[in-house]
Amino acid sequence: MSSFRQRALAEFSTHEAERFHRDDRPVSEYFGCNVFDVSKMEKYLGKETFKKVSECIREGKKIDRSIANEVAEGMKTWAVEMGATHYTHLFNPLTDSTAEKHEAFISKTKLGEPFENFKGSALVQQEPDASSFPSGGMRSTFEARGYSAWDPSSPAFILDGTLCIPTVFVSYTGQALDMKIPHLKSLQALDKAATSVVNLFDPEVKKVSVNLGTEQEYFLVDESLYEARPDLQICDRTLIGHTAAKDQQLEDHYFGAIPQRVLDYMKDFETEAYKLGIMLKTRHNEVAPNQFECAPEYCEANLAVDQNNLLMILMRKVAKRHHLRVIFHEKPFLGVNGSGKHCNWSMQTDKGTNLLSPSSTPGRNMEFLSIFVSVLRGIYKHHYLMMAGVSNLNNFYRLGGNEAPPAIMSVFIGKTLDKVLNSIESIGSADDDQSSERAKLDIINNIPEILIDNTDRNRTSPFAFTGNRFEFRAVGSSVNVASSMFILNTIVAEQLTLFRSRVDTYVQSGIEKQTAIMKVIREFIVESKPIRFEGNGYSDEWRNEAAKRGLRGVTSVPEAYDEFLAPDTVEMFESQKVLDRHEIEARREVLDETFTKKLQIESRVMCDLTINHVIPTAIKWQNILLKNVKMMKEVFGQDEEAFNDSAEASIGTIKKISGYICVMHQGVHDMVEARKNGNKILDYTKKADVYAKTVLPYMDVIREKADKLEMIVDDELWPLPKYRELLFLM
Ligand code: ADP
Ligand code: MG
Repeated sequence: MSSFRQRALAEFSTHEAERFHRDDRPVSEYFGCNVFDVSKMEKYLGKETFKKVSECIREGKKIDRSIANEVAEGMKTWAVEMGATHYTHLFNPLTDSTAEKHEAFISKTKLGEPFENFKGSALVQQEPDASSFPSGGMRSTFEARGYSAWDPSSPAFILDGTLCIPTVFVSYTGQALDMKIPHLKSLQALDKAATSVVNLFDPEVKKVSVNLGTEQEYFLVDESLYEARPDLQICDRTLIGHTAAKDQQLEDHYFGAIPQRVLDYMKDFETEAYKLGIMLKTRHNEVAPNQFECAPEYCEANLAVDQNNLLMILMRKVAKRHHLRVIFHEKPFLGVNGSGKHCNWSMQTDKGTNLLSPSSTPGRNMEFLSIFVSVLRGIYKHHYLMMAGVSNLNNFYRLGGNEAPPAIMSVFIGKTLDKVLNSIESIGSADDDQSSERAKLDIINNIPEILIDNTDRNRTSPFAFTGNRFEFRAVGSSVNVASSMFILNTIVAEQLTLFRSRVDTYVQSGIEKQTAIMKVIREFIVESKPIRFEGNGYSDEWRNEAAKRGLRGVTSVPEAYDEFLAPDTVEMFESQKVLDRHEIEARREVLDETFTKKLQIESRVMCDLTINHVIPTAIKWQNILLKNVKMMKEVFGQDEEAFNDSAEASIGTIKKISGYICVMHQGVHDMVEARKNGNKILDYTKKADVYAKTVLPYMDVIREKADKLEMIVDDELWPLPKYRELLFLM
C-alpha cells in the first residue's frame, strides 16, 4: 500500500455520509434571510429612499449619488446586525470566475474611537486593485483603473460574514470589463425591441423582461481520490484514464436512488442556497455515474445569472465539508456524458404575459408567432455566433461527442408548431391576393391550444422549444451563462427591431396592419427555415444535412472566435448598443488567451503525468516481467519450445510496453516543441490557433498509449485512481 492511489483508497473508506449545517426549521422561515431584499430595504431605509431604490430596481437604473449614503447606512446596519465584519464588491471578470476583495467595516473616528464605517461612495463606486484581471488590452496593468458600481437589480447578501455587493465593472474610459454590463445592455436592447413589437398588439405594455432558469449539471468525486489525481486537481478533468468496463450503458444511475452521501451534500448546499434566496426546485441523478443536476425556479435573467454564479461558489465550498469535490468541467471523463448548463429562456411583459406561450386566443397567437419566428430567424442568421459563444477548450471536449449536443446549431420546435409554420408558408406570399392572407389568419385562429407537450421533446437538439420557452443546451456547465445569454438577447433584439420595421414599412405603403404582420411572419418563416431540424441531432445524417444547408459547425475553437469580428456580428452589437468594436476585440483577445493558457496547463500536466507517473510505473512492471522471463529461462533451460510457450505472454507484454513508452516519449518531446514554437508568437489569436492545431492533437496521441498501459500494468502498481473508483465509489 504505497502508491498515491492505494493511500487514497484507504482514506476514502473513512469518509461517510455526514450531516452539517442543516436547518431543521421549515425553509419558508429562513428563505432569503441572508439577502438584503425588498422587505429588508423597507425596514432599514427611509421611506423616500426606499421608494427611489425600488424604482431603480424596477427600471434597471443606477442608484443616485444623493441617496447612496443612506442606502449604504441601511445596508451596513443590517449587515452588522447579521454579524458581518467585511464587505466586498463581487464582479464577473471576462474569465469565468468571480472576483472579490474584502474590506473591513471597522474604522476609527478622529478621536480614535472604533466604529463601523460604510459610505455611499464605497457602495456606488470603488476602484479595486484588479489590474491583473484580463481586459484584452483595454486597461494596461500599470494604469490599473477599473471602477465597480452596485447593480441594484441584484440584491446584496451576506456570505461567511462578508457583505457581498454585486457590481458592474468598467474601465476608466467607460468600457465594459466584465460579463454583467453587456448582459444588462442586451436585456435593455431586447426590452426596447420586444416592446415595440408587442405594442403592435397591446399598446399598454411598457416593458419586456427575460426569464431564465439554469439547470446545473455536475460530477462529484471523493476528496482523497480527487487529490491523488494531479490532472483533476489542476485541470478539473482527467487527462488520462481508461474507461471503466461498465459506465452508463445501462442508464442505471439515472434511474437509481440518490446515494445517501450525495443527498446529504445536496441538502446542505440547498440550505445555504435558500438562505441566500436561491429557489432551488429540483435535484436528481444524471445519466453518467456520479453525475447530478439541480435547477432553481426561473427568475429575471440578471438575477438568475448572479444566483447561478453564487450557487457554484456554494457548491464548491459545501463539497469540501463533505470530503467531496464538485466538478463543473464540461468533460471531466472520457466516454461518459459531459455536463452542460441548460438555459431555459423566455420573455415576459410587465403585464405578466409569457410571450413564448401560445394560447387559444387568435390575437395572442399572432403575437406569439411574431416573437417566435423572430427568434428562429435570429438563430439562423447568427447560428455560428451562437456556437462561438459557447465555445471554449472545456466545451470543445464535450460538444461533438456522440452523447452531447453537436457543435452545429439547429432549432427543434415540435410537431405541432412545425405544422403550423409549414402551412403558413405554403399559403403563398401576400402579394397574391387578400384571400391567401385570410387563409393564413385562419390557421392562426385555429391553432389548437398548443399546450406544453412534454412528450414531444427532442433531447438531441442544442436549442429546443419546450412549450413556453426555449432551452439552449449547448452552454457549458462551468461558465458564467451571461457569456452566451447576452449574445442570444442581442440576436433576438436585432430581429425584433427588423420585424417591427418591416411591418411599419408595409403599413406605410397602405397595407392593413394585421395583413402586414402576417406578411412579415411568413417572410421570417421562409428566411429561417434551414435552422429548423426535428430529427436526431447526434446522427451522421444530420451532419451531412447541416452541411448541405450551409450551417457551420465548430471544428476549432479559435477559428470559431473569428465570428465575433465578422461584419454581421459587429454591426449587430453596435446597432443594438451592447458592445462596440473595441470591446469585442478585447473580449476576443481574452478568449484566445484563456484558450491558450488552459491548453498550455493541460499539456504541462500531461507531460508530468506521462514522464513522472505512467512511464516509471510501466517500467517497474516491465522489469518484473523481465525477471519473470529470466527465471523461466533458468527453469526451462534447454527446452526451447517449453520456454517459448511459457514466456510468450510476458515477452509480448514487455514488447508492447516498450512500444507504448516510445510513442509517449516522442509525443511528449514533440508536444513540448510545439508549445515552444507557439510561445514565440505574440499575437493572441495566432498563438491560440497554433496551439489548437499543433499542441492539442498530441493530447490524444499520448492519452491513447497511457490508457493502454493502464490495462496491462499490474493493478497494484498503478499510481492514479481509476475510472471505476472515481466514478463508482461514493
Ligand atoms: P427539465 O429537466 O425537464 O428540462 P427542469 O425542471 O430540470 O426541467 O428545469 C427546467 C427549468 O426551466 C427550471 O429552472 C424552470 O424554472 C425553468 N422554466 C420553466 N418555465 C420557464 C419559463 N417560462 N421561462 C424560463 N424558464 C422556465
Ligand atoms: Mg432537468
